[in-house]
Amino acid sequence: MKSILRAEAVYKSYKMGKQSLSVLKGASLEIETGSLTAIVGASGSGKSTLLHILGALDKPDSGQVQFNGKDLSRFSARGLNDYRNRSVGFVFQFYHLLNELNVLENTLLPAMASSGTASYLRRKKGLQETAYALLKRLGLADRLHHRPYELSGGERQRVAIARALINKPDLLLADEPTGNLDSKTGFGILDILKELNQSGQTIIMVTHDDRIAAMAERIIRLLDGRIVSD
Ligand code: ADP
Ligand code: MG
Repeated sequence: MKSILRAEAVYKSYKMGKQSLSVLKGASLEIETGSLTAIVGASGSGKSTLLHILGALDKPDSGQVQFNGKDLSRFSARGLNDYRNRSVGFVFQFYHLLNELNVLENTLLPAMASSGTASYLRRKKGLQETAYALLKRLGLADRLHHRPYELSGGERQRVAIARALINKPDLLLADEPTGNLDSKTGFGILDILKELNQSGQTIIMVTHDDRIAAMAERIIRLLDGRIVSD
């Protein structure tokens, strides 16, 4: 199988005054195209830090991340922006939807951000159709004009998933996507991730919860700053 993402000996520490907190201490992993991987680790073990580095929201102190064989540290600023906006889609524990925008507008936001105004306006109709199709697939066809605060937690996370998919990313990164939901709703979100994966979407999900991780086809563990089992 072809690998889409590789992390090689990633180190990351945070400076806290005079102290330095080592979070990642040589984490390495390889993700195959089309796979669904759960990275499981205790709270504070560095899962979000690792996921942010994989998505180029943060940089490692040393080590490298390769996307389709290309080292992210060699990407231009523009190349990195494209990577974050188009190659990768993010889903977060607390949704991070904008309350000023409705469901459809929230879903379209990454498409607006990744194209200039003129190009967005030219593509607007097609993008709206894509957004509608995604929202319909996620069971939100009758919520298009709701604001996030008018939705349940599960519905908000489904909007966040639609937003993450609007630019047809190669890779979906989900950080504790069920962490703020009751278990029934959380398993519903997992079913969606599994279904997306079955239709070809590569997904990496991080979680502190072994029961959630057990739903993935592959589970890897983050312990003491390293990936320890496979
Ligand atoms: P997890 O997602 O597994 O709970 P994180 O990656 O969020 O863990 O954090 C790992 C450790 O790094 C924690 O101890 C956290 O407090 C610390 N940390 C995370 N981000 C920062 C930051 N920006 N500055 C300082 N410490 C941080
Ligand atoms: Mg976290």
